[in-house]
Amino acid sequence: MRRRRLVENWIAAYGLVCPGCPWNQGRPHPVDPYGPNANPLTADHVTPVADLVAAGVPVAVAEAGPLRVLCRRGNSSRVNKGKGNRA
Ligand SMILES: [Zn+2]
Repeated sequence: MRRRRLVENWIAAYGLVCPGCPWNQGRPHPVDPYGPNANPLTADHVTPVADLVAAGVPVAVAEAGPLRVLCRRGNSSRVNKGKGNRA
């Protein structure tokens, strides 16, 4: 699966570090994928799939678009301002 491989490659290269997200004012920060306040890294579409589809892009094309690594907390804080792009 494309997303998991992206995250695995990222961790292999950089470790458990989020490259920067809205949650942390866009600055990199360490993440803890375990424990009660777990905040694992996730793969996120650079442009939300829902936005592309709304602009007339076919879903399959939108899904194949570029991905980036983002922590789950940063990802959900971004998603919350839209209509959700967890496809
Ligand atoms: Zn983050």
